[in-house]
Amino acid sequence: MRDPVTFPFYNDLSSLPGVGPKLRPVLARLIDGETWLDLLFHLPTSWIDRRNRNTIDEVQIGEIATVTGTVDKVEHARLKLPARVRISDETGFITLTYFHANRQWLEKTFEIGKTIIASGKVGDYQGGRQIVHPDHVADPEKDDELPEVEPVYPMTANLTPRQMRKFMAVALDGIPDLDEWIDPHLMRRNGWPTFKQALIRLHQPKVYDLDSFVVARQRLAYDEALAREMAMGQARLARERRHSRAIPRAVGVEKTLVDALPFKPTRAQMDAYKDVATDMGRPIPMRRMIQGDVGSGKTLVAALAAALVAADGGVTAFMSPTEVLARQQAEAIGRFLAPLGIRVAALTGRDKGAGREDILDSVRSGKVQVLSGTQALYQSDVDLPDLSLVVIDEQHRFGVADRLKLTAKGVSPHMLVMSATPIPRTMALAVHGDLDISVIREKPANRQEVVTAAVPDTRINDVIAAVARAVERGERAFWVCPAVDSEDAGDASAIARRDVLSNYVNAPVELVHGRMPPADRDAALEKLRSGEAPVLVATTVIEVGVDVPEATIMVIEHAERFGLAQLHQLRGRVGRGEKASSCLLLYQAPLTENGKERLDTLRKTTDGFEIAEADFRLRGPGDILGLRQSGAADFRVLDITQDANLIETARTDAKSILMADPTLQGPRGVAVRRARDLFAPRIAELVAESD
Ligand code: ADP
Ligand code: MG
Repeated sequence: MRDPVTFPFYNDLSSLPGVGPKLRPVLARLIDGETWLDLLFHLPTSWIDRRNRNTIDEVQIGEIATVTGTVDKVEHARLKLPARVRISDETGFITLTYFHANRQWLEKTFEIGKTIIASGKVGDYQGGRQIVHPDHVADPEKDDELPEVEPVYPMTANLTPRQMRKFMAVALDGIPDLDEWIDPHLMRRNGWPTFKQALIRLHQPKVYDLDSFVVARQRLAYDEALAREMAMGQARLARERRHSRAIPRAVGVEKTLVDALPFKPTRAQMDAYKDVATDMGRPIPMRRMIQGDVGSGKTLVAALAAALVAADGGVTAFMSPTEVLARQQAEAIGRFLAPLGIRVAALTGRDKGAGREDILDSVRSGKVQVLSGTQALYQSDVDLPDLSLVVIDEQHRFGVADRLKLTAKGVSPHMLVMSATPIPRTMALAVHGDLDISVIREKPANRQEVVTAAVPDTRINDVIAAVARAVERGERAFWVCPAVDSEDAGDASAIARRDVLSNYVNAPVELVHGRMPPADRDAALEKLRSGEAPVLVATTVIEVGVDVPEATIMVIEHAERFGLAQLHQLRGRVGRGEKASSCLLLYQAPLTENGKERLDTLRKTTDGFEIAEADFRLRGPGDILGLRQSGAADFRVLDITQDANLIETARTDAKSILMADPTLQGPRGVAVRRARDLFAPRIAELVAESD
């Protein structure tokens, strides 16, 4: 429930003057929201200083200048020539140029002899200086017509900076200054303005002072961090009040499973498993994330947890983002659990009618204890009364809502989420602060380092020959293309590439891409897995999870077009077996600086953590592997790469606020609650749902 004091923040955009049915969607798309609050969080990216009113001879080409002068000549547009207005002062003259200007307006605005202020970007005109379409033309008598400092917003067509400023002014005028939620000492130490003052300073600065903008933004970033930490802290408290089935750690079960493995689990796998077993042993719901690079063996950890649950008479639901993965995982977990007599079934959108009924029956009757599936798992006819553990694989592919829907199938089940995106600690906490994290930083010992080379696409024939030779040796290869058909990628399209490879490789070449029906995709992958077709040409649909240990070559065409994390994921498809593997990054020269650094990083390291750090540097954290999609990383102001300290401070502060006032009833509590709802409504929703 929203606090009535904050109601004005939730006014719809359409309540702004001039925002009608046409403009509203334009504005909403730009600010990615529909309320005044969303508008106010659309912060300027820079500010223009319009104060420097140089004499005309001082004005430099390329700068944004504000000049005062007398109109001494007006040439109206004729033929294809634009209208030109000449203004001068005692030091010289400058031309204002207008294409398609309304004649009446020109005459009225630029009377000969009148003194005006003009401001805009200065360009070159036949050796002289001109301002094409000045941003502002104002009357010096009425000084307030010209903003001295003007915020610059990310803009869009059909909207002018002037309109934007007006909207901001109306919204700023209409919102209250809320009771302070920040500790007064912290405010003083940092010289922070109040919440409303911070917004005013950024949107309507009186003076051009970058430091003061930085300080104002910092305050809002802290607000957001605090809001998130509050929401997550409350979620945690709420969770700790709920009751889950405590799953005993049955040492015999664990031993039987591990002894039957064809390999020895790594120390890191067992440590992660111990964290999970400890959590599940408590009568409150586990919320743990396992972070481990591709190939670090996360599935085994989940299988061990599922074994404990099954031994205790419970059911595990294991959710994967695609059908192929869901089936593959059903198979892998089934193999791990077979020695214990635990049965695993798969359930995806493809299972319909009687077959589907059979699967659901076998779970209901207790014949099957682990159900591996896609989103099909939380459909309404799926009944999982004994659901004690929910596993979410490749968590970045799911939203918070998916998780909630699946956990709602049971009574406070434990939840384990698995992520192949190793991210720095501060960021992990900021994004997944509602989860406890176990990291698997070690890879199984039998892993071959994947040798990575960047190869210019002029040498593509050598690469094709290398693939053909590997096939002769009985190995398998992936060939990834940036697009499905030639409209988007020419020769490098998956369809064209398959045809070419079929001519060179002495064995069937399969094709898989996102536009194929899932069943055909499965079939193609199956042929690669069985060896019937040793080469698979694909788009990035194979990015996650596909496990074919015999594959030894990964070719990525136009590697320069892919993100670092994505390339790393793709490379993770090889080097899963005993044989030496390689990854060939075909690129089109010349590479951009950024492109070069991405490929270099991949050549130098296979450590997912190092790669993630480089990726943050190169790309900023927001887009990393769909973090945005998960909804958890929709930051309004926070920049987790630069605000790590603020986040740490906010975490400590949130803890002490909750300790003193767990239900947020006191004056500060009420104030903080407003901040929480303004900045972190999505997370606050989670709190409500987990209550
Ligand atoms: P990911 O962490 O990417 O999900 P998987 O769980 O799919 O990795 O494991 C990748 C492969 O490594 C699987 O074939 C799995 O059976 C195997 N594996 C898992 N743990 C080990 C280990 N300790 N030693 C050797 N192979 C392992
Ligand atoms: Mg996996």
